[in-house]
This record gives sequence, C-alpha cells and structure tokens, in this order.
Amino acid sequence: MKKIQMVDLKSQYEKIKDTVNASIQGVLDTNTYINGPEVHKFQKNLEEYLGVKHVIPCANGTDALQIAMMGLGLKPGDEVITADFTFAATVETIALLQLTPVLVDVDMYNMNINIEAVKNAITPKTKAIIPVHLFGRAANMDAIMQIARENNLFVIEDNAQAIGANYTSNDGSKKKVGAIGNVASTSFFPSKNLGCYGDGGAIFTNDDDLAHALRGIANHGMYERYHHDVVGVNSRLDSIQAAVLNAKLPHLDDYCKARKTAARKYNEALSVNKNIVVPAFDYDGDDHVFHQYVIRITNGKRDELLTYLQNKDIPCAIYYPIPLHSQKAYLDSRYKEEDFPVTNQLVQEVIALPIHTELDDEQIKFITDSVLEFLK
Ligand SMILES: *Cc1c(COP(=O)(O)O)cnc(C)c1O
Repeated sequence: MKKIQMVDLKSQYEKIKDTVNASIQGVLDTNTYINGPEVHKFQKNLEEYLGVKHVIPCANGTDALQIAMMGLGLKPGDEVITADFTFAATVETIALLQLTPVLVDVDMYNMNINIEAVKNAITPKTKAIIPVHLFGRAANMDAIMQIARENNLFVIEDNAQAIGANYTSNDGSKKKVGAIGNVASTSFFPSKNLGCYGDGGAIFTNDDDLAHALRGIANHGMYERYHHDVVGVNSRLDSIQAAVLNAKLPHLDDYCKARKTAARKYNEALSVNKNIVVPAFDYDGDDHVFHQYVIRITNGKRDELLTYLQNKDIPCAIYYPIPLHSQKAYLDSRYKEEDFPVTNQLVQEVIALPIHTELDDEQIKFITDSVLEFLK
C-alpha cells in the first residue's frame, strides 16, 4: 500500500507535471515575475469559473480577508460577527484592523455559523458577517443574506476551504460558493482544494466600485502610479504561483469530485458504528467539497483514537482543538460558555481523516478498518 498522507501533493503533481512545468517555464522565459500575463490570465480564468465579475489576486487568504474588510470601509469599533469554530485567520484579521470580532456558535449538522446566534449577536454597531464555508461545506447563505438585507450588513464569505462548491438557493438558483456575498476571500495554500506551490490568495466580488477599491488597497493604495490615495498593503500573487494555478484550475471540478467520492466511501464504511457521526452530503442543497473529512467520535475516545491511528502510520488531525472564544488573544467579557455549546462539544469530538485527490480504495479500507477496529 502507498504510504498514507494527510494530503498527497506529490502524486497529484506527477499527473499534471508536464502542464505545470511548461506553465512555470513560460514565466521564466518571459521574466515577468510580478503582475505578469499569467496573473492576468488566472484572474480571467477564475472569474469565468466562479461566475463573478471581479477576481483580485493577492498574496494569501489571510490578506484577502483583511483587504476585503478594508475595501468595505469598516472602521475601528465596528462589530463583525463570525464563527467560533474556524481557523484563526478569520478573527485575526478582524482584530488586526481594530474592528470588534463577535464570535458566535455554530450548528452541529454542518459545523457552520448558527443563524439564531447571528441574529442574537446583532447590535447597532454590527457592520458585517463573515460566514466560513468550513471544511468545504457551504454555510446557510440564504438565511445569512436575508439577515444582512434586513439589518443592512455586509457579508464577507471566507471561502478558503470551499472553492468549487455550489450553493443552491431556496428559489432553485445555483451559484458557486464565494459568488453570493458582497465579497469573498480564498486561499491557494498548497493543501487547499485549489492549491499553488507557495502562498496565494484572491478576493472576489460582483461590485465594480468595490473591486476598484480592492485592487488599489492590495497595491499600496495606488490607483495611479505613485499616487497613494488610501492606506494600502503590498499583497500580490506572484506569476509563478499564477502559472501553477492556471495549470491546476481546469482540474478543480475533478479534484472536488475525487474528494467527494472518497468521502462517500468513508461514510459508507463508518456510518455502521453508533459512536461515529459522519458528515451529511448535500444537506438542503449546500454542497460539500471536503477540504477536510471530519467525523465526530461520541463515546469520549477521540483522543485515544487519534493516538491509535497515528501509531498505525495513519495521519489524522484535530481541526480545531480550541474554540476561538477561549484563545488568549480573543477573550472578551461578552462571551459566556453557555453561548457556545456546539463549538465546545465539537472541539472534544472532531477528528479529520486523510482526504485528498489521490486516496485509493486500499488506503480508505485500511483507514476505515482501523477506525472501526478501535471503536468496536
Ligand atoms: C487557510 C485559511 C485561511 C488563510 O489562508 P492563508 O492563505 O493560509 O493565509 C483563512 N480562513 C480559513 C477558514 C482557512 O482555512
């Protein structure tokens, strides 16, 4: 059996090596390393793929969140509501801009932001909501967009984990995740569903004025060379990374499909055990592209399972072990433990099993057999 990895970037690369190498060679031949034609081409390719008017490439997914909030003109003291159960980048950028992060609990069924909790957290200072499409599953965007309309709030989708996922609205219309809110951010970190071979990120929006603002902010606040109209940052996607992304984007749908296929096989094997809760598929039309395959272990033996699997050379991980509201950097007297029952339970029960585009049946069987053997 091939050695099991959490993400197998090497085997994936082997299959597309010729296109990737040629694409990178093209950059080396033209010596246009920053904002070259490859970056422009990638921008157009991604706009077309997502069905959005504007893609603004930038240096990473964390910058993308920060630039999105700067572009919306959020001011210190403005409150931004986001999920307690997510990667820290989401809350970090809110705090860095001296906005006030307001963390709220998530739902058990999809591990995404809880709608009632969002409603209860709204104050006159609330300016934006950041839903995170966690682990690759679309958040409940219909409800979030409705709350935003009713309360005049911006919606920033943190789409670092769900690029390629579709969302079907109650009215039947389908959109790509990230094309629904006022603006969205994504990351091309190597292990993400569309990963480059270094750092990379992008912001998307359908709003022409906002897109213009964002482009300038990502480039030192310049709209005309050496005229700095606003305070900006230096956040660029380099041409070599864009070349990798141009070679990989045509495979994204197949990559999502391969992840879903692996997840379905995991689900079939694991759902027989009453101590395991497997992720649901396509709940109410919200797609899941399985950036992570996360199950819950409900008999209190999650940590023992982790050690057991690691001893068998099966990599696995806890995303995320500590709720953000309990992290030292983000403590706030407004938080009460009883406001976060779901997150507090999830951090005890979740475990992520290996998932990537190259997982084969033999590996999946070995992993599921091992999990079942431990929990029998
Ligand atoms: C990866 C990730 C980010 C940050 O992306 P980087 O490119 O690593 O800066 C932000 N939010 C979420 C939910 C992520 O998973």
